Amino acid sequence: MQQPTSGIPKRILMGPGPSNVHPRVLEAMARPTIGHLDPAFIDVMEEIKSLLRYVFRTENEVTFPVSGPGSAGMEMALVNVVEPGDKVIVCRNGVFGGRMLDIVERCGGKPVLVDEEWGRPVDPGKLEDTLKAHSDAAVVAFVHAETSTGALSDAQTLAGIAHRYGCLVVADTVTSLGGVPVHIDDWGIDVSYSGSQKCLSCPPGLSPITFNERAVEKIRHRKTRVQSWFLDLNLVISYWGKAARRTYHHTAPVNAMFGLREALLLIKEEGLENAWRRHRVNHLALCAGLEAMGLQLAVAPEHRIPSLNPVRIPEGVDDSRVRSRLLEEFNLEIGAGLGAMAGKIWRIGLMGYSSSRENVLYCLEALETVLAAEGAPVRKGEARKAAESIWNRDQG
Ligand SMILES: *Cc1c(COP(=O)(O)O)cnc(C)c1O
Repeated sequence: MQQPTSGIPKRILMGPGPSNVHPRVLEAMARPTIGHLDPAFIDVMEEIKSLLRYVFRTENEVTFPVSGPGSAGMEMALVNVVEPGDKVIVCRNGVFGGRMLDIVERCGGKPVLVDEEWGRPVDPGKLEDTLKAHSDAAVVAFVHAETSTGALSDAQTLAGIAHRYGCLVVADTVTSLGGVPVHIDDWGIDVSYSGSQKCLSCPPGLSPITFNERAVEKIRHRKTRVQSWFLDLNLVISYWGKAARRTYHHTAPVNAMFGLREALLLIKEEGLENAWRRHRVNHLALCAGLEAMGLQLAVAPEHRIPSLNPVRIPEGVDDSRVRSRLLEEFNLEIGAGLGAMAGKIWRIGLMGYSSSRENVLYCLEALETVLAAEGAPVRKGEARKAAESIWNRDQG
């Protein structure tokens, strides 16, 4: 008989997600399935909600995982908050801001763009100017960590400006949550969604989301129904709301929830600040190693995302050949450029369980070997030393 997993290789995942999944999470997901209204499952749901409040740094009652990938979270956030005719300021500095725009248009919002050059954070000054010119705007939406370019925006400053103009703030924290400081309550973010497969070390398929009271009020008092039945918060809340009054909405992906609970427990055990710190130090070590090899990072140091490192593809090097060789010869996945960055950068993820010293060293060595074999002008034998000096300094 064939093994149930035959043909599925074991990879080291260092792309823009999914990242590697902690073995404890995989074990948890292999527990026997129970009913999605079983009292034992209700306990699991309550625990997940509470652990998500911990990672989001929020007291928001309405905090739960959407049954769907990060894109479902993005859609849930926007379709609920945006009513037809609402003016929505969409900050776009990469692919994901562009998707927000698409969703806003589809739900009848009137989008106003704050465009920024790719690879740069959203410019708070431009947001402020746009809000001055559109004082009737209802919502400001932006991506905290733009995975397509590797630029981190100043979410706290952007949210502060949006609030001064009376707007609700929707922030995408898909690539930041669990890997980069995110403070939903302190920063005044009204709605935020993330993804299970990036810094939370889970398989793809769930999107943690949180709504504060102000956002929930707006949604409760909508004049029109949310056009998506599945993602209508007013309906979903009957399932994820108060434990005592839980009723069927859809069948939750029970085993995926077992995995998410375990992943969140792992973060709690490590300590959220320690997880942020691990992401930061490993990122600095990787960058030092890449630069020592002679490669260039695509984002200025002060705007880099610790969980996603874009590196310029050297002149004359065949993008897809290098990535195929890394995959075939080293079982290592790194990401290609997306959208306007295709063919120009590689994206090296250091997310969740994938963000380890071991992986940084493995990736540097694999890249050095493949690039040298491809005839690229890399400096050999320097990357490891440069990376190690970062960890040594961190300990000293
Ligand atoms: C990955 C990602 C998404 C989409 O998540 P999926 O799980 O792929 O649907 C949205 N926003 C950002 C910033 C992302 O990195």
